[in-house]
Order: sequence, then C-alpha cells, then structure tokens
Amino acid sequence: MKKSKFIRLRFLKAAALCMILIIVSCKKDEEITTEEVCIEHFNYEDTTEEGPSNWENYCVSEGTNECGSVERQSPIDIIGAVNDTHLSVLDIAYTTSTTDIVNNGHTIQFNYNGPASNLTFEGETYSLLQFHFHADSEHTVEGSHHPLEAHLVHKSASGNLAVIGVFFEVGAQNDFLANFTAHLPQHEDDKYTDADLNYTASSLVDLNSGYYNYSGSLTTPPCSEIVNWIVLDQPMEATQAQIDAFSSLLHHNYRPVQPLNGRIIKHKQ
Ligand SMILES: [Zn+2]
Repeated sequence: MKKSKFIRLRFLKAAALCMILIIVSCKKDEEITTEEVCIEHFNYEDTTEEGPSNWENYCVSEGTNECGSVERQSPIDIIGAVNDTHLSVLDIAYTTSTTDIVNNGHTIQFNYNGPASNLTFEGETYSLLQFHFHADSEHTVEGSHHPLEAHLVHKSASGNLAVIGVFFEVGAQNDFLANFTAHLPQHEDDKYTDADLNYTASSLVDLNSGYYNYSGSLTTPPCSEIVNWIVLDQPMEATQAQIDAFSSLLHHNYRPVQPLNGRIIKHKQ
C-alpha cells in the first residue's frame, strides 16, 4: 500500500514536470513563430506566407497593423443594403490635372498632381490624392465580382479617408481609360510621366449613379480602419481589351471580402 502511494506520487511529480515542459516549449514555439512570420512584403497569393491570411503579421514601422481586426475591415460583400434618403449627394469639385502613372508592384496608381480637387461628403471635405485599380473588383455585389474596380482616394484635413469605388463591366469603349491604356507602366517601379497628359477625375465618377456607403478600412496593409467608403452602384463600361490591359498587369490584386460584423450598408438611390 505504502509502495503504491509512493509510485503514484512519483508518477504525479513526473506528470507535473511534463506539463511544465510542454507549456514552456509551447510558449517558446509561439515566440519563435511570431518572430518568423513578421512579413515585410505582401502579395495576393494565399499559397504564400505573404498572402492575405498572413497580412495581420505584416511589419509596420509606426502605428498599428489592423489587418487581423474583425471590426470593420474592407472590402465587403455588398448585400442587404438599407436605403437611406438622408445621405448627401456627392459634392464633387474636381479640377484638371497632370498625372504620374506608377506601377508600385501592387497596383497601377495615377497620382494627382494638380490644384485641390475636392469631395465634400456628409459635412467633411476631402482632397483627391490618387486613383488606382483592382482586378477583379475588391467589393462584391451579392457574391459576384466585377472584372475591374477603381478606387479614388481622398483625404481630409483631419486625416480621415473617403474612397470612391467604381466598378467596370464589359461594354462600349471607355474614353477616359483610352487616354491611358497605351501608357500603363509594365513593370514594378516603372513610372510614366507626361506633362501633356491631362485628366479630370470626374470622368470616372458618374454623378447620376446611386452609391453604397459603409465604414471600413484600407484594403492593403496596414488595413487601417479609417475609410468612409462610397461604392457607386452603376458600373462604367469598358471594352474587354481595355479591361485586359489592366488585369494583365494587376495579377488578381484583390483582397478577399471581410466579415461585415453587424455594420449597416447604406444605399443612396
Ligand atoms: Zn484600392
């Protein structure tokens, strides 16, 4: 009897030691793993460790990386939008500007060089910084992608962003895109500058279109939750060749849709 008690005690001691060792080694693994997956670049291929499901581990030098948040990330699937007659009309005062077209390895971006080009929305005024493209679209409508989506990025004096999303569908030639399709920089870090090439971004925004409005985030790291999204409900048309000119360079640069998490999607008709 005494001997079996002694054995049981030794067994319990050994088991306790094992548990401690397991906990210590698990903790060690966790630390090592966190260090290893801190990624400096991101891409859109989820088969690689730099893909969207690992963006929460993207290294940021300042501020916080919010890609792992489930609060109000973008893009989203647009479904169940609620009509809201109180939403303001889009008050746009865009001026003509020259542009630098940049291939930054993630998108083709048209930097805005001109004098202030403003969007006033829900009482806040934002200035246009740039627009860029995603193929396929990042936002989906009732589960379906469009082949192309433009994002016009605006910033207010207080640092908030308003982004207008514009879908494209296959149809007639798009005269606005026709100005640029011959000048798209083909390789990462390529830039096209032409002082004679002017554009007015209002050609991209159909003010007769209704729009969806919701509160979300940047769709690339660090996924900051600071964006007032305005997604037009009427797609623009472009020929298949025009859409292909972008999508052949963009390599499926769309983040998967994120949980709505109870957010209301408003719709202005
Ligand atoms: Zn974008």
